[in-house]
Amino acid sequence: MEKIYHGIPVSPGIVWGEALVYDPGVINIPRFKIKNPKEEYKRVQSAIDITKEELTLLYKKTLENFGKKQAGIFDVHLMLLEDETILIELKRRIHEELLNAESVLYDIAQKYSKDIKSTGNSFIEERTADVIDVIDRIIRNLLEQKRPDLDNIKKPCILLSVDLPPSETARLHPEKIRAIVLERGSTTSHVAILARSLRIPTIVGVSNLFNTYTAVIKGAAVDAISGLLYINPTSDTILKLRQKKIQLSRRFLQYEKRIISHPSQTEDGRRISVLANIELPNEVDDNVKHLSAGIGLYRTEYLFLNKTEPPTEEEQYKEYVYVAKTLNPLPVILRTIDIGGDKLASYTNFIKEQNPQLGCRAVRFCLAHKDFFKTQLRAMLRAASIGNIKIMFPMISSIEELRDVKKILQEVKNELTLEGIPFNKEPEIGIMIEIPSAVLIADELAKECNFFSIGTNDLIQYSLAVDRNNENIAHLYDPAHPAILRMLKMTVSSAINANIACSICGEMASDPLFTEFLVGLGLNSLSMSSVSIPQIRALITKITYTEAVEFSEKILQCASSKEVRSILKERINTKFKNIVSIV
Ligand code: PEP
Ligand code: MG
Repeated sequence: MEKIYHGIPVSPGIVWGEALVYDPGVINIPRFKIKNPKEEYKRVQSAIDITKEELTLLYKKTLENFGKKQAGIFDVHLMLLEDETILIELKRRIHEELLNAESVLYDIAQKYSKDIKSTGNSFIEERTADVIDVIDRIIRNLLEQKRPDLDNIKKPCILLSVDLPPSETARLHPEKIRAIVLERGSTTSHVAILARSLRIPTIVGVSNLFNTYTAVIKGAAVDAISGLLYINPTSDTILKLRQKKIQLSRRFLQYEKRIISHPSQTEDGRRISVLANIELPNEVDDNVKHLSAGIGLYRTEYLFLNKTEPPTEEEQYKEYVYVAKTLNPLPVILRTIDIGGDKLASYTNFIKEQNPQLGCRAVRFCLAHKDFFKTQLRAMLRAASIGNIKIMFPMISSIEELRDVKKILQEVKNELTLEGIPFNKEPEIGIMIEIPSAVLIADELAKECNFFSIGTNDLIQYSLAVDRNNENIAHLYDPAHPAILRMLKMTVSSAINANIACSICGEMASDPLFTEFLVGLGLNSLSMSSVSIPQIRALITKITYTEAVEFSEKILQCASSKEVRSILKERINTKFKNIVSIV
């Protein structure tokens, strides 16, 4: 029987085919008494041996595909397999309590997961999560119920899961994962951002996906335009989706034709740069090279995730140089790491925070870990002598913070000078405007930097007090809220008055609903995931700047988001309906 689920479409596309349920959580653990403890321990030992082979293979594959650092995690897991404390407890309980190995292992894992909640130290938490992970593998081998391995997917499939941490997402192969559907997540969650970059059609926030389905999943169809997941789709559904897909690819061809024959400017000749957001260097593909005006946001923290130790200065330098050289002379804005919040790396030894999004994140983390920060700045300044690199600081909330990061940047320059290492002495320095306090003092901040880039993903979360990753309150996360629109206006005006550049790099920049409004505010640079560039560029060529200014003023008079949305939709459906259709 076909079953339909609704979610939030975060990376466009339509696909159907085989589905893979990745780690839906609970497996049934049988609990029974055994007669022969020696035999039982032998059985568990052979499951441990199989687990060892499995992890060794995973290590090799990850090493081949992603390098030594990413593979390190499996090294740690192999070491944990030899952990005496677990093995001694396992042996003792099998012999004393005459319990089957699966249930003893399950109890041990439960004990560890309780400890997770009580420590508050994120390094210990991650290690404990590793122990639980390894135990889960052994249990699955005892039960002969293998966990799907993301690296080992043979046939391309649609991945259904509760959630995917950023580290797992970074290992996804777009050739193997045709679409992703998750119970958790929201438009601006990191899995959504990365899926867009990897061009994997994705729907997140599908409530109760794993609570309610009872049918055997034979296949799935994903309409990541309308946010619909079909489990066991009927032939009628597939036919409907096939037609929609054809329409969609026609539309994309139309965009491409239009942007090949039109420069990136409005109908009345105002130039608008459309840049790309990237997370990893390998995203600089032909699309980015040919369709974008450079990189408006390089989220460098992705180089630091899913590793057992941070990348060295040399490793970072190579990555930045690669991107800058590939795109030269186009600009590349390197954002210093925005680690913390929900992006954690085990080696940084984070202290557990009650409100991590309001905690030691981004520049706050960097200012507290100066050596770490300086290493990244050295790599960036050195790379900036080779390509058109600009440096940007995230989460600036006060003028002191901006002065502090600039002071450290100066220290790094002095050190490089003393060491006689070539670097760019005056790269452009910018900041992200993504905290309400920064909007209110944007006029002051503008005097001390070369450019602004508005991060609406965080600006919305912090202004409206809505966690950007919480699917339960996703309806309150609203870019059309008049407060957000007025803050955009304030920021752009401060930049214009101070004569500095201003761009927008949050997900709002890629939503066609807002393009005319943003252009009318005076923004002449928009940065977005590369999949959105063709549509937005095509739309820009249809906008008239003088009309957009008037239109923006009208929008800014609205008191409610409902009013804003109705005017925006009406405009798209009348003036731009050949380019965009809002469903
Ligand atoms: C933002 O906050 O809008 C942004 C672009 O940064 P990130 O999504 O990486 O927090
Ligand atoms: Mg941000």
